[in-house]
Amino acid sequence: MSDIIRAEIRALNAYHVADPGEMIKLDAMENPYHMPEALKPEWLSLIAQAEINRYPDPSAQALSKALMEYMEVPEDNSIVLGNGSDELIQIMALAVSQPGRKIMAPEPGFVMYRMIAKFAGMEYLGVPLKEDFSLDMPAMLKAIKQHQPTLIFLAYPNNPTGNLFAEDDIVEIIKAADGLVVVDEAYHPFACTSFMSRLGEFENLLVMRTVSKMGLAGLRLGLLAGPAKWISEFDKVRLPYNINILTQVTAEFALKHNNVFEEQAASIRQQRDWLFDELQSFTQFQVFASRANFILLRVLEGDATLIFECLKEQGVLIKNMHPAEGVLSQCLRVTVSTEEENQALISALDECVK
Ligand code: PMP
Repeated sequence: MSDIIRAEIRALNAYHVADPGEMIKLDAMENPYHMPEALKPEWLSLIAQAEINRYPDPSAQALSKALMEYMEVPEDNSIVLGNGSDELIQIMALAVSQPGRKIMAPEPGFVMYRMIAKFAGMEYLGVPLKEDFSLDMPAMLKAIKQHQPTLIFLAYPNNPTGNLFAEDDIVEIIKAADGLVVVDEAYHPFACTSFMSRLGEFENLLVMRTVSKMGLAGLRLGLLAGPAKWISEFDKVRLPYNINILTQVTAEFALKHNNVFEEQAASIRQQRDWLFDELQSFTQFQVFASRANFILLRVLEGDATLIFECLKEQGVLIKNMHPAEGVLSQCLRVTVSTEEENQALISALDECVK
């Protein structure tokens, strides 16, 4: 009986989510702002009218239309929606998986690429980034030639490093790959640059987005955009009704008030610059510039895990990247939050490095 579960699943560690309790939560790149009070009555009345006794619209047509407009998906491309972009990664992997096929991504990168490859019975190939976290182009091109990956994921900006890869490098990878290249723009609200307008220019380019980082992580809603010939195949693998009715209603409502979410993103971008400068004033840290809503830093003097624990004792939860080892040794990742919470982080850090 001990081998009923596949060996590669048994070898995995479950995706770990820390329990924040009452702590200030700066570990998961969430947007700290709630739905504004002024919008709540209208939102709640829409929720009250939602027919939860019925299955939702299986293809979420009204929401899809609103998302395509808001995210400026070029005409003659299609989209498929997922229960978070995590589900879209899984849908793609399930649709292409075959013995010997591979998923490739730069490392360090978003851990779900590796995990989902394993779930779907695919091989995962991580290609190390250069020391400055840029793409190692000779290594990437060599790996593409040698391994012919079916799917390549490029997070733009990258998690956990926060940087944007060079646009020309991404284009070179798209051109060199025979498989599909997914530009994962989860952090788009903070990056202010995108490959969306280039859809259609390359047959094998897909762009993935999520509403999670724009303040709607609880809804679980992601979007994959690209040529219809790929999207229609992925849509067959999607489980029916994967976007529940409360998500459909709420996301449509939120998109009608998208100025609110854009203002929140703008203030987070401003706070990111403030936090970057503050973190840089600690001589013990090397701080990496970020185009996302988080900042990675390396502890040069002292111990990252001790600082992580000390912050926790003071009620601030961040992400300790040190256990990931390699270039992430002695690294910590902090989510950019409100002015108040960012200041609390800096005060707590002051205590911890004393
Ligand atoms: N892509 C990247 C690069 C991410 O960092 C994350 C979440 N941390 C996701 C995708 C998943 O987002 P979602 O909430 O839409 O599943």
